[in-house]
Amino acid sequence: MAKPNPRPDVRLDDAPMEPVTCETCQQQVEVRKSTWDQTSIQWHRDAMEGCVERRASNLEDGRFPGCSALRDSVRKAAVLGQVHIVSDLLDLKDGRA
Ligand SMILES: [Zn+2]
Repeated sequence: MAKPNPRPDVRLDDAPMEPVTCETCQQQVEVRKSTWDQTSIQWHRDAMEGCVERRASNLEDGRFPGCSALRDSVRKAAVLGQVHIVSDLLDLKDGRA
């Protein structure tokens, strides 16, 4: 008997990350937007060291809420189609996004 499949949709995790450069810090990170409201950001070491806001936050334990300038750059890249929205690519129309 076939059961409904409870697994999360892993297609979102399989999508490649795309490079985005922070317009303020000029640091490049890897970004994947699963939906318009969900963004994964992979920081590289040199980007972490070069990010103006990250340096300014001066947190010793490595916690960093995120660079607001970078967030704006990511949003802009998404609007311009430079970063793809995975759910759009998959054409998910079941309202989960
Ligand atoms: Zn930054």
